[in-house]
Amino acid sequence: MPIVQHLYADLFGSHIGKYQERLKITQGGETRSQAPLMHLQGVTIASLGVSISADAIAACCERGIPMRIHCPDLGLRGELDELVIAPGGVYLPVDYKLSTKVSDSFRVQIAAYALLVESRFRAEGARVETGYLYLIVPRSLHPVPITEALRAQVRASISAIRDILLREHLPPLPRARAKCRDCEFRRFCNDV
Ligand code: SF4
Repeated sequence: MPIVQHLYADLFGSHIGKYQERLKITQGGETRSQAPLMHLQGVTIASLGVSISADAIAACCERGIPMRIHCPDLGLRGELDELVIAPGGVYLPVDYKLSTKVSDSFRVQIAAYALLVESRFRAEGARVETGYLYLIVPRSLHPVPITEALRAQVRASISAIRDILLREHLPPLPRARAKCRDCEFRRFCNDV
């Protein structure tokens, strides 16, 4: 049997479950793909109507197997650091940061994860009320209420990025140049 390192669930109505030491994607009672956990390097959920069992999520979390969520409807994809599913269907996305303080862009990012989680786990009735940012250096946990204003900010950001891509124009420089200090594109940017 070939070694499968990535599982890709892109069919509506499919289910990801754990069977002994492997993850299996089934749909309509048929096995679509499967992979032993020992070789697995990632799971991508790329369609609405994909369900995943709690023990499959736990197996990925325990082994550090990233779970990517892709939502074409929202125009978003993301790889959550952690997703806690608490009793009562409470979904809590968590993002770990090396920074020493919480910035507005971190809040928008965790809200984007919240929208992804709600979209992907819609069948389970997922609603994310709060996301969490964990600052690694000071070891502090910061709850971020996923408010309507923050949700609107995510949607506005998605549409601004789409506009940039469609019109192929550069966005204006940030007013606060301190943002450039930690920017991951700084190495490639001609503006600093
Ligand atoms: S380094 Fe360049 S890309 Fe990054 S925030 Fe500053 S101007 Fe924008």
